[in-house]
Amino acid sequence: MNYDVIIIGAGPGGIFAAYELLQKKPGLKIAVFEAGHALSKRRCPIDGDRIKTCIGCKSCSIMSGFGGAGAFSDGKYNITNDFGGTLYEHIGKKPALDLMRYVDEINLKYGGEGTKLYTTAGSRFKTLCVQNDLHLLDASVRHLGTDINYIVLENLYAYLSERVEFFFDTPVRNIAITEGGYTVQCDGGTYFCKKCVVSVGRSGSKWMEQICAELDIPTRSNRVDIGVRVELPANVFAHLTDELYESKIVYRTEKYGDKVRTFCMNPRGAVVNENTNGIITVNGHSYEDPALQTENTNFALLVAKHFSEPFKDSNGYGESVARLSNMLGGGVIVQRFGDLIRGRRSTASRIEEAFITPTLQATPGDLSLVLPKRILDGIIEMIYALDKVAPGTANEDTLLYGVEVKFYNMEVEVNERLESRYPGLYIIGDGSGITHSLSHASASGVHVARDIAK
Ligand SMILES: Cc1cc2nc3c(=O)[nH]c(=O)nc-3n(C[C@H](O)[C@H](O)[C@H](O)COP(=O)(O)OP(=O)(O)OC[C@H]3O[C@@H](n4cnc5c(N)ncnc54)[C@H](O)[C@@H]3O)c2cc1C
Repeated sequence: MNYDVIIIGAGPGGIFAAYELLQKKPGLKIAVFEAGHALSKRRCPIDGDRIKTCIGCKSCSIMSGFGGAGAFSDGKYNITNDFGGTLYEHIGKKPALDLMRYVDEINLKYGGEGTKLYTTAGSRFKTLCVQNDLHLLDASVRHLGTDINYIVLENLYAYLSERVEFFFDTPVRNIAITEGGYTVQCDGGTYFCKKCVVSVGRSGSKWMEQICAELDIPTRSNRVDIGVRVELPANVFAHLTDELYESKIVYRTEKYGDKVRTFCMNPRGAVVNENTNGIITVNGHSYEDPALQTENTNFALLVAKHFSEPFKDSNGYGESVARLSNMLGGGVIVQRFGDLIRGRRSTASRIEEAFITPTLQATPGDLSLVLPKRILDGIIEMIYALDKVAPGTANEDTLLYGVEVKFYNMEVEVNERLESRYPGLYIIGDGSGITHSLSHASASGVHVARDIAK
């Protein structure tokens, strides 16, 4: 029960920390504690047939388990400092990019070979966007796809499991400071380590808050992004997605000066439900395999909401907005853009008459009864702005699903080594509030592993 290093959480942050430790110091005794299941046992019971909605499993297979929240994701590894987190603020811009490229190499080595790397460098769309008051952010994106992403995880697990001790279905309850290291407490026992890497992601955010409060580690928070998922015929965005796959476009609204951005673009993908603490929100994914692709493209349009004093619960605000859509629609609401502009709800027959087939079965309704005016106005403005670079975006039949919410963890105070005020206690990945993406979270894992190995 004594380890050199204990890693809490087996998402990308924890996986890459373990992987890099093995490269740099193969002799170390390492344990990984994970609240969720092993990869092969992760299965969401919603089958759309017998079980249609979330039944609140003890451990959510979508968010938890080996591979973390990203296991069934689209596997888009964005190599950029422009979005996906603020890791560069701690470790520097070049080191951050170098680490993300290193992560990409490993993904290729473990099954991602042959997948495409898209880039905005030299893209003509940058000019087209800026001519229309839209701003295309710089990035290279490796699109593994949901299928290949899973294979990479399987291969990484096969490599790690022979060298690292994994404890699945074992949530860590507490971390205590002990002489010479840390004591990690689980239901079944207490474990000691010299160094502890905490990488608990979004699903561990409440626990992280509690640990920070107990250990008096400073934190700050106050942001949530709220919006909708847009679904339209793939041809409308094909000129952008074929070249860039994912384009992160930012627009500043004329009315309020708020920033609206595209997020998580899924060419020829599907819109899906997401369960956050029992609240149904919307997300999207796509497959690399052409046989699994659809005729639609989807992406989110999000408005960032920063709160000032005295309000502190930005995530609670986001949850309340999402809860409203659940209250009215029993889950996610879908509305045609034309209906929204006319101020009327969408109905099942209006959706059926549309020249697009929704990829998610959602309740036809009225998003103006759910989203705050300021946010809805921003989304409508952005749809018209996007229509100039991708004509057809503002078509009558464009579908809007709500609510999409991007929650942010509170940001934990760590130094340039991603170490908390306690030497040897590292806090990384999305759980630290510093990263919000696969590539940044993975890079943070490599960074701390190298520091520990030193
Ligand atoms: C549906 C979906 C699609 C996504 N698509 C993309 C994408 O295409 N590209 C992208 O860049 N990002 C995407 N993301 C975000 C991405 O998955 C996360 O940014 C990334 O997984 C963060 O990695 P992490 O290791 O920090 O945390 P996580 O992946 O959340 O892993 C943390 C792990 O810690 C475990 N844990 C929590 N608390 C405890 C505890 N007390 N004890 C033990 N274990 C604990 C959890 O069970 C979890 O497995 C997506 C997210 C979702 C939900």
